[in-house]
Amino acid sequence: MSENVIIIGSGPAGLTAALYAARANLDPLLISGNEFGGQIALTNEVENYPGFPDGITGPELTELMKQQAEKFGARVEQDHVSRVDFSKHPFTLDTENGARYNAQSVIIATGASPRRLGVPGELELTGRGVSYCATCDGFFFRGKDVAVIGGGDSALQEGLFLTRFASQVHIIHRRSELRAQQILQERARENPKINFVWDSVVQDIRGNGTVNALALVNVRTGDKSELPVNGVFVYIGHYPNTDLFKGQLEMNDEGYLKVDERLHTKIPGVFAAGEAHDHVFKQAIVSAGFGCMAAMEAEKFLADLEHEGYAAISENASH
Ligand SMILES: Cc1cc2nc3c(=O)[nH]c(=O)nc-3n(C[C@H](O)[C@H](O)[C@H](O)COP(=O)(O)OP(=O)(O)OC[C@H]3O[C@@H](n4cnc5c(N)ncnc54)[C@H](O)[C@@H]3O)c2cc1C
Repeated sequence: MSENVIIIGSGPAGLTAALYAARANLDPLLISGNEFGGQIALTNEVENYPGFPDGITGPELTELMKQQAEKFGARVEQDHVSRVDFSKHPFTLDTENGARYNAQSVIIATGASPRRLGVPGELELTGRGVSYCATCDGFFFRGKDVAVIGGGDSALQEGLFLTRFASQVHIIHRRSELRAQQILQERARENPKINFVWDSVVQDIRGNGTVNALALVNVRTGDKSELPVNGVFVYIGHYPNTDLFKGQLEMNDEGYLKVDERLHTKIPGVFAAGEAHDHVFKQAIVSAGFGCMAAMEAEKFLADLEHEGYAAISENASH
């Protein structure tokens, strides 16, 4: 048995693709991945997703997206795709739980994952003071001092969230200017619990079982210092989750998938939506929009497939 369309990933791109594919009567199957909801589920404050004037938490937003897709017949499977074969049609997908699926079309919505600092102490102390998710772990730092690494939207947004719990939030940025939106910069500057440490990078994370300090170096002066903290939240960007497709799909040097303006990869019937290919906008609404586009293109592909067959579509695509 072959699925019409399998959607890989349950972030805003995947869940929106599932909604549109379900409403087009394609009976889509979405394989959620190990992180249901994707990156947006890591934040407690989403203030810029249209339709929620009072804001919404990331987990709530993605749960609502799931409910909406399921209402129209999308099936959501909690599993992680471990192998794909796009060399033969129908395509084959294998999962960590040992399932094998065949699919007429595939929408890749595997998004991105947080970049690590890559300094000594980071791996050993992950989950023991080092975190990539303030929503998940902020509560553990009630009355404690924490550091946030980064200078973009996520760093400031999550730093502000952490002021609800922590007594002091040190935002450590390697430059002397922030990249974050102006509104977040103003809120952070006005917050008495936030302290900026400019022009500084982390050399190593120190602790004996749990984090107790950061070794910092000032990139302008070379001065070294130690900052006592109990928690470190890292927000220094992302890398795309596309290793699975290496050798089968085209990608740029950073691993972002190459697609045309209609989100087709070079393999007819395989589409990409969201941060697996978008390295520019990186917003939930943008990924949701790409999910919609990919589902509409998958629908058109499946209609063409019925009338023309895969060989003819492939032949046309190669011209
Ligand atoms: C802390 C933080 C705060 C943010 N705040 C905002 C905000 O306020 N507003 C905003 O618009 N954006 C915000 N963003 C950005 C937003 O989260 C992303 O733009 C959006 O989530 C990208 O959606 P996506 O669907 O493309 O990918 P992702 O959200 O990255 O989702 C990818 C999905 O693919 C799954 N997956 C990966 N590999 C596999 C596999 N092999 N098999 C199956 N599934 C797989 C993952 O489990 C995940 O479910 C924030 C991001 C972070 C990290």
